[in-house]
Amino acid sequence: MLTQNPLSQERKKKLRWFVTLSTLPLLGVLTAFGLVPQSDLGLPSAQVSIEDIALPSADDDYAVFSFWHSERVQRGDTVAELLSRLNIEDQDASNYLRTSPETESLRKLSVGKEIQAETSATGELISLRYLSNHDEQILINKQDDAFKIIALPAQFEKRLFVRTGEIKTNLYAAADAAGMPEAAANQLYELFSGDIDFHHDLRVGDKFTAVFEMNYHNGALMNTGRILSAEFINQGHVYRAIYFQEDDQHGDYYTPEGKSVQKAFLRSPIEYSRVSSGFSNSRFHPILNKWRSHKGVDFAAPAGTKVKSTADGIVTYVGRDGGYGNVVRINHQGRYTTVYGHLSRFALNLRKGQHVVQGEVIGYVGMTGLASGPHLHYEFKINGQQHNPMRVALPDAKPISNAYYSAFRAVADEFVARLNLLRNTNLAKLD
Ligand SMILES: [Zn+2]
Repeated sequence: MLTQNPLSQERKKKLRWFVTLSTLPLLGVLTAFGLVPQSDLGLPSAQVSIEDIALPSADDDYAVFSFWHSERVQRGDTVAELLSRLNIEDQDASNYLRTSPETESLRKLSVGKEIQAETSATGELISLRYLSNHDEQILINKQDDAFKIIALPAQFEKRLFVRTGEIKTNLYAAADAAGMPEAAANQLYELFSGDIDFHHDLRVGDKFTAVFEMNYHNGALMNTGRILSAEFINQGHVYRAIYFQEDDQHGDYYTPEGKSVQKAFLRSPIEYSRVSSGFSNSRFHPILNKWRSHKGVDFAAPAGTKVKSTADGIVTYVGRDGGYGNVVRINHQGRYTTVYGHLSRFALNLRKGQHVVQGEVIGYVGMTGLASGPHLHYEFKINGQQHNPMRVALPDAKPISNAYYSAFRAVADEFVARLNLLRNTNLAKLD
């Protein structure tokens, strides 16, 4: 069975209001987004589609009375048995499929592979299609009493989806209610977590919209692709992000003004973990048994959880240091330093003087040094002075380069215009 939609049936029901929204205005939006620099799409914009699948359609010549059957190869199947299940009663076709060297790929089909056949009312074969063991799309057509076979490369395809959600409890619940896959919700979280503290700043009624790709292989959903553009309205403040590729290798997210959405620093060195002890000038230390300041943030996480460098930088220290236990210190752009303490172990071959990039794993959560349980102690210093890493205004990563600014401008203008249209439509429908 081909998957038509990443949504389950139940979800579809819940989402009826959204589906209504999506039919009319979003097609316009999607056409427009087809112009976004999706060089990786490899498709002209006209082919970008939502939620429709090209099921085998009757060939024009035979459109009057034809029937489609679909069967899977079973263990021990013969071609004759398969044809019989497909309601094919056609001696010529049977001979061709059983003996022709051209149709060897059919006879070698693995158990479980699906075959679709189109027949006349009397069982004459009109066309047959299947995916070969080598993932080629095989099409066999009867033309003027002869059979023609063609093999097409497997079709990988990206389809665009638009989802709009509203916060009632948390981001993931809202994304789920909006029919957005978790992988897309994760991206949304990462995209805006530099600007929005999803633990503290989120409010009921905050809204988001995301345009994202879903990857299909021969019409079947494979996985969630990339968010191409998104908007998050947090406490009335609008944040927007647009994906733009300067070349085949490098893409990044920018605000409509061309500023990087990504911060030079990640807000947290651990994914999706909870702050167990915040930044303060005075707290009761559970091991030292006395009050002292806590000039960092503790992230609760199981021992062994990956710890990532929050920014590009140079490792200045790897080793043991008193209460910090196993600690890594990294210098960034001269004036910034980040500190990662209580590690169980370091990333393999990590050493002083090494260059690390943002998101690179530098070690693993542990409880070395003064720690009552596994957690990461993280410090963020500016000119040697500790700041609250969860609150400090993080510097932006580099903006769109001048060479690509006008190309980006065109994309961004289109995006903003369409998003405004979409938002007005949403508000109108939600009232
Ligand atoms: Zn700590």
